[in-house]
Amino acid sequence: MPSIKSKLPDVGTTIFTVMSALATQHKAINLGQGFPDFPMDERLTSLVSKAMTDNFNQYAPMPGWMPLRDAIAEKVAILYDAGIDAEKEITITPGGTYAIYSALTAVLRPGDEVIVFEPAYDSYIPNIEINGAKAITIDLTHPSYKIDWNVVREKISPRTRMIMLNSPHNPTGAVLEPYDIEQLRSVVEGTEILILSDEVYEHLIFDGIPHESILKYPDLLERSFVCFSFGKVYHCTGWKLGYCIAPGELTKEFRKVHQFNCFSCHTPSQVALASFLQDRNSYESLAPFLQKKRDYFIELMKGTSFTMHHSSGSYFICASYDMISDEPAADLAKRLTKDFGVAAIPLSAFYRSGKDDKVLRFCFAKKEETLKEAVTRLTKV
Ligand code: PMP
Ligand code: GLN
Repeated sequence: MPSIKSKLPDVGTTIFTVMSALATQHKAINLGQGFPDFPMDERLTSLVSKAMTDNFNQYAPMPGWMPLRDAIAEKVAILYDAGIDAEKEITITPGGTYAIYSALTAVLRPGDEVIVFEPAYDSYIPNIEINGAKAITIDLTHPSYKIDWNVVREKISPRTRMIMLNSPHNPTGAVLEPYDIEQLRSVVEGTEILILSDEVYEHLIFDGIPHESILKYPDLLERSFVCFSFGKVYHCTGWKLGYCIAPGELTKEFRKVHQFNCFSCHTPSQVALASFLQDRNSYESLAPFLQKKRDYFIELMKGTSFTMHHSSGSYFICASYDMISDEPAADLAKRLTKDFGVAAIPLSAFYRSGKDDKVLRFCFAKKEETLKEAVTRLTKV
C-alpha cells in the first residue's frame, strides 16, 4: 500500500462527533454538539417540499440562487444598513464551516500567519494549517472571554494575513462590543490584514445587545469575508447551507475555490429560503426564543453544583465544576455521558494546546422537557 504523509498529523476526530457518538452509545441526553432537538418552522419545510414538487431540482447557479442572494442583500440592508451587491458579493455555500474553509483557502499562502482567538471552533486551525499557513493563537481572558487587544498588537507581524473573529462566540457565548470594533479598526488600518468574521450565530444574541456585524462597518468590510449559516439560525443544521459576504475582489477569489469544490448548493432549500427570508419575523423572533431557553436552563442549573458562566449569545453556555471535581474537563464530559446520561463538550477541546480551565459547554437549544430531564440528572452529580 502506498504510504501517505498526513497533511494534518495532529488532527483526530472532531469532539462533536466523539461526544455525539458517546451520547448515542449510552442513550444520554445530548447537550454536547450544537443542534436543536425541536422541529424547525413548518412553513420552511413546506416551502422546500413545494420547491421540489415545482421542479426546482437541477443545479442552481454557481454563486447561488439569485432570488435568495437578493433576499439576503435586502435583509442585511435592513439590519446593518449594508449596501451589498447580491450579484458580486454574496455566495451561497454548503454551510458556514465550508464558507470559512473556502475563504481561508482563497487567500492563504504557506508562511502566512492568522490570528485565532482561543477557545476556538475546532475547524479554524486545521483549515489554516492545511493551507500551509500558521495559526497564531491568543487566549481570550477566562472567564469573561474578552479580547485583549494589547496582546493582539504584540502578536501582529509582517506575515499576519488575517484575523479571525467569531461573535456571538462558540463556545463561550461572548459577543463583540463597539469597543472591540474600534480596537480592530486601529489594528488593521493601513495594513494588508484581512478579516474573517464568523457570524453564524448573528441572530442568537440576548438581553437586547445589538450584534456587531462587520457588515455595519464599510471600512472593515472592504477587507473581510463574513460567514453565515442558515442551519444555525433556522434550526436545520442538517441542511448544511450558509453564505459568505465579501467585497467583489475577495468574492472573485472565493468563488474560484468554491466552483471547483462544491460548485453549487442544494436548490430546493435555496428556493424555499428566498421566500422565507421575506418575513422579518423569521429572524427577529429568534433572539427572544433562544433567550428564554438560556434563562430557563440557568434557572434549572441553580439546583446543581455547577457554576454557570455568562452567555450573551450563541446557543451555548459554559459552566465550571470546581465544587464537583478536579478531573480534566474531557474526563468529566465522558463520565457525565456514561454515568449520568448527559453529554456536554469539554472546553479544552477548543484549545490547540488542550489548555484546561475545567469548564464544560452545554447547548441549551433544546425543548424545555429535554433541558428539565438533563438537569434532573445533573443535580445528582
Ligand atoms: N462557526 C461556528 C462557530 C459554529 O459553531 C458553526 C456551527 N457548526 C459554524 C461556523 C458552521 O456551521 P455550519 O457549517 O453547520 O453551517
Ligand atoms: N458548531 C457545532 C458545535 O459547536 C457543531 C458543528 C459540528 O458538529 N461540526 O457544537
